[in-house]
Amino acid sequence: MFFLRLYLLCVALVATRTLGADPEIPSQIPQKSVGKRPTEQNITFNSVHTDGPYIAMSFDDGPSATLTPKLLDLLAARHIKATFFVIGENVMEHPEIVARAAREGHEIGNHSWSHPNLAKMSQESVRSQLQRTDDAIKNATGERPTLMRPPYGSITDREKHWIHDEFGYRIILWDVDPYDWKRPGPAVVRNRILKETRPGSIVLSHDIHPGTIEAMPSTLDALEAKGLKFVTVSELIGMATPETPPPTAKLKASPSASATPSPSVAPSPAFSPSG
Ligand SMILES: [Zn+2]
Repeated sequence: MFFLRLYLLCVALVATRTLGADPEIPSQIPQKSVGKRPTEQNITFNSVHTDGPYIAMSFDDGPSATLTPKLLDLLAARHIKATFFVIGENVMEHPEIVARAAREGHEIGNHSWSHPNLAKMSQESVRSQLQRTDDAIKNATGERPTLMRPPYGSITDREKHWIHDEFGYRIILWDVDPYDWKRPGPAVVRNRILKETRPGSIVLSHDIHPGTIEAMPSTLDALEAKGLKFVTVSELIGMATPETPPPTAKLKASPSASATPSPSVAPSPAFSPSG
């Protein structure tokens, strides 16, 4: 009787584990153990570990015919470089605005053609979304982007890898989100950004909402007053330094591995209308 019970318990345990592992559901939380390629940490970035006071402001969903030039003016007045994750459809409508942004030293990233949820699309459709936008950016600026940000931050681990392999893109998410798409008013946008931004942060906002642009002068001035310095996302990644291990931890990695810049790979933002 005891052995029968033990046998049934084992069967139940195995069944539970099998049911628990559902490979069909794309996970937005990085896998902790098996199946993770060593390059994962160099593909996806929410923020960067850096010793300097550097941050990256990023603006999504543009260009906007009226608001993006306004933003470019106030960035230029402060000698601030930012990163624009543009939508291909909008680039086609206003290539001259994207050209101006690139000319003035800002970085241009791929934010898809029409802002769909990439995690729910076929590989062929995702490829088309990214390729058309890549081409539109190349036509507008003369250069192809090296960064992409998935709309809503929604992307599967599998997509991250093949997109990186095919396009050479780094996948850029964020660690500061003022939820400016909800249009909470400039003061709220500013306060949220000021509260959450720290060295190495990638700040998300959108240059298609008037309140966001209205919030920027005082936000940028306050960040600067805190001693923070603005760089593009690629520059920020270039400034990544290894994270200092806890004093008690023994180094298990080889010397060469520990010298590798170690970007912070926090869990992806949950699916939200942000991004
Ligand atoms: Zn977006």
